Amino acid sequence: ANSFQEECDYLFKAVLIGDSAVGKSNLLSRFARNEFHLDSKPTIGVEFAYRNIQMGDKLIKAQIWDTAGQERFKAITSSYYRGALGALLVYDTTRRATFENLKKWLHELREFASPDMVIVLLGNKSDLSHSREVNVEEGQSLAQEENLFFMETSARENVNVEEAFLQMVGGIFEIAS
Ligand code: GDP
Ligand code: MG
Repeated sequence: ANSFQEECDYLFKAVLIGDSAVGKSNLLSRFARNEFHLDSKPTIGVEFAYRNIQMGDKLIKAQIWDTAGQERFKAITSSYYRGALGALLVYDTTRRATFENLKKWLHELREFASPDMVIVLLGNKSDLSHSREVNVEEGQSLAQEENLFFMETSARENVNVEEAFLQMVGGIFEIAS
């Protein structure tokens, strides 16, 4: 048997999606390694990162997939979504177009992902309040319409990052356990 699998009770796959440069890779590096990078290297994405999360008496290994920049070419394939139980759908609160594109991302999720996938909508870069283009109320009301969890995050200042991932993993755990 594989000791890698034995050490946890559940292994969950989740994906990060959203337009290019909204902060997906930095949200993941903040969650997985507590790192933030000022420079963006869209084509040098890691494939995925792991983190173990204790929920009650169960140990969950969360495997979070990041794109390697394919979203720039609208080239995310169905294999990226395969087996994913959760998604963090990210927009940039300082770029309205990334919010407008959420409908497209939700459409893609419905096409490729499982219907009971736990989706958390994240308005990232909340630290850049001087250049905000999307209000928190707009994020909230879209989330309500589409039945998503929602929060605003800052990968840069480490605001709500842990909470966002834990909400997703907790939601999956509720369905799976
Ligand atoms: P991705 O293409 O969605 O993976 O986005 P990246 O994680 O590569 O981030 C794109 C750019 O936005 C980088 O220059 C990051 O430093 C910056 N960035 C990411 N998250 C934040 C944040 O919360 N606040 C600020 N101010 N910048 C951020
Ligand atoms: Mg990236």
